[in-house]
Amino acid sequence: SFHKSKGQHILKNPMLVDSIVQKSGIKSTDIILEIGPGTGNLTKKLLEAGKSVIAVELDSRMVLELTRRFQGTPFSNKLKVIQGDVLKTDLPYFDICVANIPYQISSPLTFKLLNHQPSFRCAVIMYQREFAMRLVAQPGDNLYCRLSVNTQLYARVSHLLKVGKNNFRPPPKVDSSVVRIEPRKPRPQVNPKEWDGFIRICFIRKNKTLGAIFRIKNVLSLLEKNYKTLQALNTSGAAEMDISGLGELGGGEQSVEMDADDDDDDEMEMEEDKEAANGRSEFKEKVAAVLKEKDFCDKRSSKLSQEEFLYLLSRFNMAGIHFS
Ligand code: SAM
Repeated sequence: SFHKSKGQHILKNPMLVDSIVQKSGIKSTDIILEIGPGTGNLTKKLLEAGKSVIAVELDSRMVLELTRRFQGTPFSNKLKVIQGDVLKTDLPYFDICVANIPYQISSPLTFKLLNHQPSFRCAVIMYQREFAMRLVAQPGDNLYCRLSVNTQLYARVSHLLKVGKNNFRPPPKVDSSVVRIEPRKPRPQVNPKEWDGFIRICFIRKNKTLGAIFRIKNVLSLLEKNYKTLQALNTSGAAEMDISGLGELGGGEQSVEMDADDDDDDEMEMEEDKEAANGRSEFKEKVAAVLKEKDFCDKRSSKLSQEEFLYLLSRFNMAGIHFS
């Protein structure tokens, strides 16, 4: 009996398993990481193709079944099974990751892989179709979003294979796709917290112009707060910022709370003193000036490339404007 909550949908089509293994380009010297091996249909082909397989499986019954399946075969000493939640496991070195994962961990797992070091050659992963299409979406595509931008910052992503639900037992509710993720080398040097904060703001409304987004009151007040905090820290000589960690890849909460019609709101509070009001519009001008410099005002996040986001973030940072 399978656990729906653990996302246990077993691949039952051997031709499909062959095709996944073939497309992953495994070398006979490769150490392969598999996540959620289940009963081992994919594991078996991975063991045939590579040097060794490290398989991380949450369900102890599956671990038992998997171990039994290869006991007494030449494969048993090529396979290492780690029982546990992959999200809580320190991943060992691997050359390539091939996995039919439980879809509920798609986002944090992708994120974990993208942060894994030393970085691997590639990951070939089965995702829910819609998630896969978001991962590979390019500027201007309908599904282009924070997840696409964040993933593509660290990796080149390509769609490999469409997989219908009937290839699984029991069949899931949605269609699937296999995606290839190749970490960029060298890894882009960007402060992850800055990047995350910046991209969250840019995608508050992905079809609005950046000019409009960076006039939103809550956005400006958040940036101004960061600006002042940093100025205070700099003058006290303690400018070191904590750059550890990084938020969720996509779909998480926004760091800025938005009212739908809060933008373009220039009104000042009545009781606000003049000095504060002046400071605020000064800061607003500072932000606008960065956008104007290379005509970003009329551009929309839905159409901006990786390079453009990186460039704009660096211009903001150079002007002392920070997102974390
Ligand atoms: N790889 C097998 C196949 O293709 O037939 C099974 C894939 S099934 C979609 C997902 C597997 O991941 C299940 O065996 C499930 O027990 C396991 N799993 C679920 N959550 C997990 C987690 N957090 N860490 C590791 N494995 C997990």
